[in-house]
Amino acid sequence: MATHFNFDINPARILFGVGQLNAVADEVRRLGKKRALILSTPFQRVDAERLAEQLGPLAAGVFDEATMHTPVTVTVKAMDVYDASGADCVVAYGGGSTIGLGKAIAYRNDAPQIVVATTYAGSEVTPILGQTENGIKTTVRDSKVLPEVVIYDPELTVGLPVAMSVTSGLNAMAHAVEGVYARDGNPVSSLMAVEGVRALRDALPVIVSQPTDLAARGDALYGAWLCGSVLGTVGMSLHHKLCHTLGGRFDLPHAETHAIVLPHSAEYNAQAAALTLEPLAKLFGGSIGAGLYDFARSLNAPLALKDLGLQETRLDEATDLAVKNPYWNPRPIERDAVRSLLQRAWEGSRPR
Ligand code: NAD
Repeated sequence: MATHFNFDINPARILFGVGQLNAVADEVRRLGKKRALILSTPFQRVDAERLAEQLGPLAAGVFDEATMHTPVTVTVKAMDVYDASGADCVVAYGGGSTIGLGKAIAYRNDAPQIVVATTYAGSEVTPILGQTENGIKTTVRDSKVLPEVVIYDPELTVGLPVAMSVTSGLNAMAHAVEGVYARDGNPVSSLMAVEGVRALRDALPVIVSQPTDLAARGDALYGAWLCGSVLGTVGMSLHHKLCHTLGGRFDLPHAETHAIVLPHSAEYNAQAAALTLEPLAKLFGGSIGAGLYDFARSLNAPLALKDLGLQETRLDEATDLAVKNPYWNPRPIERDAVRSLLQRAWEGSRPR
């Protein structure tokens, strides 16, 4: 029932559909800008260069050193290139790592950002920037880092490897699962969350069997946009805390960690948030934890933290870190229960 809520909608211009990559030049001009520095990872440099060619004089160059967790050292280097090239805006072409670099630049000089999103991580629609310095990851929330324009062109995700598509899609779902029970949630963010998970649930199995199916790629990107928008709108709880802890302390890969932990964190909150989780549980056969686990297994997703190289002896430390600072969660944070959640995620056993 819609009774009482506050809802800050993040302003962004979304361009969705096959061929929308061609709109980048017009979008640079629409922002009143003349020279865009194009950002990518080394892996996507070829795509970034192709875009630079397409932009002609509107491109200030390509900086291809984006990397996971947005190290400040890389940002400093990118800022030097930005200034030296006479750039007045950025185009981030890639997933969360590249988008993170664009946000880190904008955080420092307010550069307008156009994002061409090529994974399902959702960072492009959040005002959140995570960055690392001296091995410590910190997160800031600032409207300055919210990209001005987001382009979702399903054609650009056809080459996203199947394994990465699956873990990235589950990462997106995690935003929505935590979104439905968020304390600051509202009826609209819940609608987006359920529809986003529904779209990904339908699209991912098709992508696994037919990775080039453009309709499924489009549906997955649509779901990712909705789930990312939920992340950008409401607060997250235990699941994101656990993944942030595991990624930050043990350097575990982002999307895989989310994919593995999600069924277990959802199960942890299943009873306390039964009502709000119900529409999502229904999408997975009625039981949110076991249902998500079976879904992940059907997609050949990684299921066990031990397979990411985490030692069992580190689980106590991970638990202590994850429960150290109190934060809101539908079910109170109980150390023993969190420890056994992590044990199950480490073993890869099905939630009870
Ligand atoms: P990623 O950006 O690190 O990409 C992984 C690899 O896949 C890279 O080499 C990339 O170049 C390649 N790739 C990306 N798209 C491709 C495509 N379509 N085809 C082929 N290769 C492609 O992975 P990610 O999971 O999108 O991002 C993870 C990072 O994003 C983490 O640092 C995480 O903290 C951050 N993140 C931030 C937020 C936020 O709101 N601030 C939200 C989600 C994730």
